[in-house]
Amino acid sequence: MNEPRRVYLDNNATTPVHPKVIEAMLPFFKDGFGNPSSGHAYGRFVKNKISESREIVANAIGAEPSEIIFTSGGTEADNIAICGSAAGHTKKTDRTRLVTTTIEHPAVLETVKHLAKNGYEARYMPVDNEALVNPDSLNDMINNETAIVSVMHANNEVGTIQPIREISEIAKSYGALMHTDAVQTFTKIPINVDDVGVDLLSLSGHKINGPKGIGALYIRKGSKIKPIIHGGHHEFGLRAGTENVAGIIGLAEAVRIGIENLVEDANHAQKMRDELEKRITKTIPFVRLNGHREKRIPNTLNMSFECVEGEALLINLDMAGIAISTGSACSSGSLDPSHVLLAMGIPHEIVHGSLRFSFGPTNTIEDIDYVMTHLPRIIDMVRQISPLWDSDNGKVLTVEEAAIGSLHVGH
Ligand code: PLP
Repeated sequence: MNEPRRVYLDNNATTPVHPKVIEAMLPFFKDGFGNPSSGHAYGRFVKNKISESREIVANAIGAEPSEIIFTSGGTEADNIAICGSAAGHTKKTDRTRLVTTTIEHPAVLETVKHLAKNGYEARYMPVDNEALVNPDSLNDMINNETAIVSVMHANNEVGTIQPIREISEIAKSYGALMHTDAVQTFTKIPINVDDVGVDLLSLSGHKINGPKGIGALYIRKGSKIKPIIHGGHHEFGLRAGTENVAGIIGLAEAVRIGIENLVEDANHAQKMRDELEKRITKTIPFVRLNGHREKRIPNTLNMSFECVEGEALLINLDMAGIAISTGSACSSGSLDPSHVLLAMGIPHEIVHGSLRFSFGPTNTIEDIDYVMTHLPRIIDMVRQISPLWDSDNGKVLTVEEAAIGSLHVGH
């Protein structure tokens, strides 16, 4: 029997590791097993390789190699940026306020929440209905006691890109550090730390066809940051622990490939994404795009389908071999509505019917053809069981109309 076709459209959750990345990593599980802190040839060899990798990552964002520390991923980079900058102040120069947005990834939101339970004060900038932050809103939240302003470069669920430069100018005028979580933009759109004016920037390997469990944090020279993991003097004393050598090598190779192909990959992803959106809009009624149409990373499409449950769509698409997401992968397993879509003011019932399609370099037009042979049928099927779907007329009922309809059935 033929295996069903598989289509992976969940690249914002994670990506397949590029074959060249695997190839680059393998020697570091074999002969290149040395500890980079060792003084002998085994150690020196890997230490040099780590330095080369640091340079590749630094060059990709216009930073100095000494401004990059390797971490276990985007989550740890966010934690070091936020907890480390909060702890970077002595009692005399207390800066106890943290400002972020309502749509951050849990890696930022939960870290800020943790600090808020421990004596820090948290403020959250709102977003508009396209998930954009208005930089002016920072003026109402920031003060001279603010340690850090953390605003994601682009949102992982809807893809909206934030005006980081304008936000960072306000943050700087209050002497606060400016952090951006660039996990979803790195190698998808060009990033230069001076252009966006940030002091701290988080990256992750597994979102860019690199390995899982590796990431990096850019820390602008002179920024007051304290370590949150204590031990040896690794990573300029800011992140103790023997380095994940193979992971670092893999990250650097993924960065090298990602930067080399940035324009081509971005154009390809955008073409695929826009084609899928066009076909969905043409074929399926009662759908809407979530996020900003133009200020959006090229690979992300988030759409709401009225009168459906996203989870029911996910399960049925999965049975057809199609992998998508109903929101952040981190919150799957719970049926909580997406905090991002709710923050954008989208009504609860519509939030529940939202899907995220996120493209990568290996997706093809045949993938879209395949999705379109299943999605309209599945939406139709799921709508049939919704009390708000009028299947005779193919339209959405108001709650009042649906109540009247059920009374009639009852009689
Ligand atoms: N930040 C954003 C915006 C993300 O999308 C993710 C992953 O979903 C993370 C942080 C966490 O990165 P990691 O999985 O490398 O810890």
